[in-house]
Amino acid sequence: MSTPRGKMVNAFNPDSLAGLPAATQEAIRRRDRLLGPAYRLFYEEPVQVSRGLGTKLYDREGNEYLDAYNNVVPLGHCHPRVIEAVTRQMQTLCTHTRYIQDGILDYAEAMLPSFGGRIAAAGHMMFTCTGSEANDLAMRIARHVTGRRGIICTAEAYHGNSDLTASFSPSLGNRSPLGTWVRRIPAPDSYRHDPATLGRMMAAAVRAEAQELRRHGDGLAAFIADALFSSDGIFATPEVLRPVAEAVHAEGGLFVADEVQSGFARSGERFWGFQRHGIDPDIVTMGKPMGNGYPVAGIAIVADVLEGFGRDTRYFNTFGGNGVAMAAAQAVLDTIREEALIESVARVGAEITAGLRALAPRFEAIGDIRGAGLYIGVEMIRPDGSPDAAAAGRIVNGLRAARVLISATGPDSNVLKIRPPLVFSSADADRLLSTLETVLAATV
Ligand code: PMP
Repeated sequence: MSTPRGKMVNAFNPDSLAGLPAATQEAIRRRDRLLGPAYRLFYEEPVQVSRGLGTKLYDREGNEYLDAYNNVVPLGHCHPRVIEAVTRQMQTLCTHTRYIQDGILDYAEAMLPSFGGRIAAAGHMMFTCTGSEANDLAMRIARHVTGRRGIICTAEAYHGNSDLTASFSPSLGNRSPLGTWVRRIPAPDSYRHDPATLGRMMAAAVRAEAQELRRHGDGLAAFIADALFSSDGIFATPEVLRPVAEAVHAEGGLFVADEVQSGFARSGERFWGFQRHGIDPDIVTMGKPMGNGYPVAGIAIVADVLEGFGRDTRYFNTFGGNGVAMAAAQAVLDTIREEALIESVARVGAEITAGLRALAPRFEAIGDIRGAGLYIGVEMIRPDGSPDAAAAGRIVNGLRAARVLISATGPDSNVLKIRPPLVFSSADADRLLSTLETVLAATV
């Protein structure tokens, strides 16, 4: 079962509006009237947030929620260092990339070595405002350099909201058209397959799909994957992308590592998710956590790969790479490094995973616990082992009622998605685990 038309995992169902508190009903009606029908809200009872601080969110009545979901603020909500950097730069200058400015150069210089491989040896960075734009640009470049247009992604991938990126984002549902030049391969489902076979399985699928694309006259421009396979259900077996990258390169395509989810220390192991796979991508795309809430995103790319595109056309993005965006990004990078967040992600992530493993024997509905660092998936199953979306929904909403925020993911909507800010503490982990234990006991 893959995502039906327009459906989003953990979406609020408008049919249940009548059961909500009057003020929430009123706010949802107003939102629908003004914003229209394409947006989705989370939870059976949507949360009306009014402010955030660190790992906490607060609603209009001042109730506190533990945020175990938001990766857009890796340093926590309203981090003073980012606020200060953005404010100072906004008071000084905010303009675009057609002037020489130090901030963007300092940032690219600080970032490029982090990618290792060919990008660190001779690479460039380019800046956008969103992850969608970054993936869109990556594919324009890949198509230009290869002269082909085919794209291979994973079965339930999400890579963005532009026309091009939506065309290789199958998780948007079966009424959102995929490009005729798009092919899908299975995600590395370590729960249903022997992890030792996953890389070979995916590489074989890439070879088969690349052949199909050739037969149709499209050819393979690029393969793209999120190294933690977030919308595919969160899979974290290391090294599986290594044979895939080899197959992609043998077919003459580019390997695009989408680090919008898995980058910036999220895995607690390496700064970038692709590094857990021992690969050397041609293009790395990044976004979400990069500015701790300020919209900043971009790509890092092997210099040779960009050369022809740079010669034959040009790139300008009015807001991408503006001085304020760069100030936010620099503050985030410095803080992740200076506060050694990668280590605390590893430690707190291990605490959560160990706590979940301790709970699992008491709850048969927990089929699998997986992930890396502070990106953890808990797969809920029925007694026969089939996916249990209803159980996942009850748990997500039970936690929300207890003011702990997570969500769910996967093609069957049955995988709890725990993805807190990187600054999540041991005390936060304890609160998440003890609340989850209570909710599990009451619901499954
Ligand atoms: N790639 C991945 C893996 C994502 O998760 C997302 C956003 N959820 C995007 C790309 C698109 O990023 P944005 O919403 O900033 O356009």
